[in-house]
Amino acid sequence: MSFSALGLSDEIVRAVSEQGYTSPTPIQAQAVPAVLSGGDLLAGAQTGTGKTAGFTLPLLQRLSAAPRHKVNGQIPIRALILAPTRELAAQVEESVRQYGKYLPLTSACIFGGVGINPQIALLKRGVDILVATPGRLLDHMQQGTVNLHHIQILVLDEADRMLDMGFIRDIRKVLAALPPKRQNLLFSATFADEIKKLADSLLSNPALIEVAR
Ligand code: AMP
Repeated sequence: MSFSALGLSDEIVRAVSEQGYTSPTPIQAQAVPAVLSGGDLLAGAQTGTGKTAGFTLPLLQRLSAAPRHKVNGQIPIRALILAPTRELAAQVEESVRQYGKYLPLTSACIFGGVGINPQIALLKRGVDILVATPGRLLDHMQQGTVNLHHIQILVLDEADRMLDMGFIRDIRKVLAALPPKRQNLLFSATFADEIKKLADSLLSNPALIEVAR
């Protein structure tokens, strides 16, 4: 199995080859076609399985295949990735940059504990892909400095950790601000009741993928 056999474009295959990846991991082999098909996804996968590329590669492909139109001079945010910690958010955005290096897409990462003003400047220009921790994203929503009206793809990465960290209310507030018609991807290492409840309310007829570590 090769990355191009999964339906990924030459630009993306070239970028993953440069990372030294020769073939997709099991989660990638399943998640990439599922996400490319446009449907929702519920994936049980831990860190170390290659889950980040599992959602990032098809997300990049879908965004690059659709034309982007600026809205009031601003690049509309079309994909939102929520992650529990600043470290993970930064790592995910780094992956977005690496895998998307041959694509004309832009990204940004916002998290708390650092000044908000540089983030406001970034968000004012707009990006195609925003990676964020829930608390800081909510700060921006409350200040009116982020526009989520054009989100087409939502990813909740390490959803179980986000719930453990008490982010469920913040996540619900973010969900309420998104356009109802969108693709939702939920990644979690565990499936406690709270995750199942979130999945039930968020996902519509999702593909189910579970891989061992
Ligand atoms: P993740 O589970 O997304 O945190 O990824 C774990 C590690 O696996 C990261 O260091 C990736 O760079 C690496 N990785 C992801 N996909 C592949 C692949 N197809 N082949 C080899 N390494 C990979």
